[in-house]
Amino acid sequence: MSSFAAMLTDTHTHLYSDAFDNDREAMIERAIAAGVARFFIPAIDSSYTEAMYRLEKQFPNRMYLMMGLHPTSVKDNFEEELAHVEAEFEKRDFYAVGEIGIDLHWDTSTLAIQQQAFKRQIQLAKRKKLPIVIHCRKAFEEIFDVLETEAGDDLFGIFHCFTGTREDAERALSYNMKLGIGGVVTFKNGKIDKFLDEVPISEIVLETDAPYLAPTPYRGKRNESVYITEVCKKVAAIYNLSEEEVARITTENSKEVFGI
Ligand SMILES: [Zn+2]
Repeated sequence: MSSFAAMLTDTHTHLYSDAFDNDREAMIERAIAAGVARFFIPAIDSSYTEAMYRLEKQFPNRMYLMMGLHPTSVKDNFEEELAHVEAEFEKRDFYAVGEIGIDLHWDTSTLAIQQQAFKRQIQLAKRKKLPIVIHCRKAFEEIFDVLETEAGDDLFGIFHCFTGTREDAERALSYNMKLGIGGVVTFKNGKIDKFLDEVPISEIVLETDAPYLAPTPYRGKRNESVYITEVCKKVAAIYNLSEEEVARITTENSKEVFGI
């Protein structure tokens, strides 16, 4: 594993996940030692909020928390969950509203309330002048429909774990979204590596989505933030840049989105 003079930013990592309960500290230290200096932590639902705060306390100046309701957690009690998100925003600041969006892989019966929750959280982000971090699974059209109704200068953020076509990429960019590039870019059948060099590098950020979607050669195993170096390596090859340059540029891009 190479280490970098320039720092890397993991813009999407679930470090509070119970997948890391046995070695969380060592796992985070491994990432820091490899040059991953900043970790942006997406929320899922209220059951993880306390764990996110513990993480932030344990690693000061490393963890940047988001708050939001994940689409697969949009269920019958979604009003209560959205009230929790709003209540946390009353108490303190976050760096984004996320992760939010639409997921039609696990449950299509909740589409209507997923759309509602997505839209309301976009409006929350606009009131707070914050970026949104979008989760999209089998739902590009449904996501774009909502973005179209909310489009404007005050709408911006990251299309996390981008896996769409070149046309989807252009459309996402047109709504002021940067593309979150993770392990999928290293997959043989991941497809986005075929056209990514046509997307200006100013429009991408790097992420792991740990503990999910580990890059090659760790595919199928538990993902960790340190494996963002594999994503960086692949992106460097695609753009014909050095890994250091990719680390520097994508960290700058992350600063532009999150304001820090
Ligand atoms: Zn995620």
